[in-house]
Amino acid sequence: MTYDFDLFVIGAGSGGVRAARFAAGYGARVAVAESRYLGGTCVNVGCVPKKLLVYGAHFAEDFEQAQAFGWSLSGEATFDWPTLIANKNREIERLNGIYRKLLVNSGVTLLEGHARLLDGHSVELGGQRYTAKHILIATGGWPHIPKIPGHEHAIGSNEAFFLEQLPKCVLVIGGGYIAVEFASIFHGLGAQTSLLYRGELFLRGFDGAVRKHLQEELSKRGLDLQFNSDIERIDKQPDGSLQATLKDGRVLVTDCVFYATGRRPMLDNLGLENTEVELDERGYIKVDEQFQTTAPSILALGDVIGRVQLTPVALAEGMAVARRLFKPEEYRLVDYRTIPTAVFSLPNIGTVGLSEEQAKEEGYRVEVYESRFRPMKLTLTECQERTLMKLVVDADSDRVLGCHMVGPEAGEIVQGLAVALKAGATKQIFDETIGVHPTAAEEFVTMRTPVSS
Ligand code: NDP
Repeated sequence: MTYDFDLFVIGAGSGGVRAARFAAGYGARVAVAESRYLGGTCVNVGCVPKKLLVYGAHFAEDFEQAQAFGWSLSGEATFDWPTLIANKNREIERLNGIYRKLLVNSGVTLLEGHARLLDGHSVELGGQRYTAKHILIATGGWPHIPKIPGHEHAIGSNEAFFLEQLPKCVLVIGGGYIAVEFASIFHGLGAQTSLLYRGELFLRGFDGAVRKHLQEELSKRGLDLQFNSDIERIDKQPDGSLQATLKDGRVLVTDCVFYATGRRPMLDNLGLENTEVELDERGYIKVDEQFQTTAPSILALGDVIGRVQLTPVALAEGMAVARRLFKPEEYRLVDYRTIPTAVFSLPNIGTVGLSEEQAKEEGYRVEVYESRFRPMKLTLTECQERTLMKLVVDADSDRVLGCHMVGPEAGEIVQGLAVALKAGATKQIFDETIGVHPTAAEEFVTMRTPVSS
């Protein structure tokens, strides 16, 4: 049987583009279908625009702190949301163009439109049928907003990036990455912001000391954190404001309700019913460790398989799929251990490896090292922000199991530590590493006395 393509990728996000480009580089005939925007969530409504908004929000404290270093602003610093959004949109358009060039220059056929599976080897797009030896589903995810009464008045992250004006008052619902990051953005840019989380403490799954420390730092900055709180219904008022009735009976009035309550796999009108592809119990596409679905010719990766919803993980998965299919001699399984990650709240969280709680659950005899200090840059200012650094060590083997930080540039700092953890570094190796002085990061190699064991 001859096919139009060796690989047909559905979705030009991080994982799909990586698989397509590498497959084409290995000599395969590749097509990519995209119905929305090149670069997927990360480039358009995720990591990239979010980081730009975080930079924007950070200026508020930069202006304030600059005075302690002798700077004065002539007049008051003011902020214009439409300028930030317009500049952000221009940058995203530039990146869309780069993605287009990358694909076309690597010999991939780009098909813009909605692709629908017809069977294990064929796809329909724009009224035309395409056949392929392998099909890769890389359609990503989509914000999930619970269907409470009045949910249509709420926005999710897709809309937040395109608001015409910065709301004066925002309720952010959720306690994961997106909720914490956007609460920091809105608050930093001057909106009166409350974060409502249904549980005891946000960022479930992160190290307990990190969660507590971030709670304290965000509260110090004046961000209103309301735990054990959830919305029952939202009603639009005649003046356009929104009235949120909470499950405990309280009523909050706001301009904007922003839900960040997780993401669902994007499977809409994909035609899965025409194939043997099965979903797992959470509704994500079921795959084995080689990204093979239950249909022999169909693979899936990235957010749509719901493993670890992070861009660098999708990139690694895309590379693995391209190699497995077209360069098997270079194929290696994706290693999901010690994935570093950052939450770009203000201040940032950076983390890699096991939390203290996870290490104990896994049966390690744990030694914990912790350092809390005021960052040097702030010593001339009134700002009382404190940084937390924490190491979780296996007392038996001396291996460092986890590194955690809350503070400026935590994401940047933890990337290097991830290399050390991947290499199996022991606490002794950390101790023998010379620090870079004066930095915050040197604290990670100068913690000598365990705070608990
Ligand atoms: P998360 O899964 O991280 O968090 C979802 C949050 O919403 C949790 O606090 C959860 O509570 C809460 N929640 C879920 N359902 C409901 C509900 N029905 N009512 C009230 N609260 C609810 O999702 P996000 O949307 O924040 O982010 C999605 C993914 O995107 C992340 O997991 C991450 O992988 C990725 N991401 C990564 C970023 C980065 O690398 N910096 C940035 C942004 C996103 P509970 O804990 O109680 O379940």
